[in-house]
Amino acid sequence: MKEATLVLIKPDGLKKSLTGNILTRLSETKLDISAAKITRVTSQLATEHYKHLADKPFFKELLRYIKGEFHEKRKVMAMVYFGEDAIGKIRSIAGETNPEEADSVSIRGQYGRITTKGVYENVIHASTDPEEAEREIKLWFEPDEIIEDLYPAKDIEEKVAKRAWA
Ligand code: UDP
Ligand code: MG
Repeated sequence: MKEATLVLIKPDGLKKSLTGNILTRLSETKLDISAAKITRVTSQLATEHYKHLADKPFFKELLRYIKGEFHEKRKVMAMVYFGEDAIGKIRSIAGETNPEEADSVSIRGQYGRITTKGVYENVIHASTDPEEAEREIKLWFEPDEIIEDLYPAKDIEEKVAKRAWA
């Protein structure tokens, strides 16, 4: 079944100049990239993204990590990959959560580390199942930023203050 999955190259991945390596590894899947952007991670976005981990002892440090507070690069690269078994294929190349337990040739096994504070800096995020993927993709992207029509969307009229070219 064709499915979509959210991938984030986390601030440590950007700081370590791993973008090219990671995209090359992910291209082995032959999946399509349906959306991509570099974006800042606000406290609100970080908290919402990791809300299922709010009761964990590492939660506060995890928010600081994903916001880029440890890596001077206060940004992540967010992407949507789309295609047959996308979630499983990406998770498999990403490797296990704990970089020390991850297969040594997986992305996390190759490039991740555990900090002295116990945070797994594992350079990449990948959705774990279709429900999580849908929730995360809708959190990180607007419908028009994605090439595929993944989920139902509607037209709304909204007057929002936004930055424009001067
Ligand atoms: N994490 C951590 N310590 C843990 C578990 C998770 O630092 O004991 C971090 C790690 O960066 C991980 C993120 O929290 O990628 C989200 O955890 P989750 O359990 O969702 O793992 P994932 O889906 O990213 O493999
Ligand atoms: Mg997860």
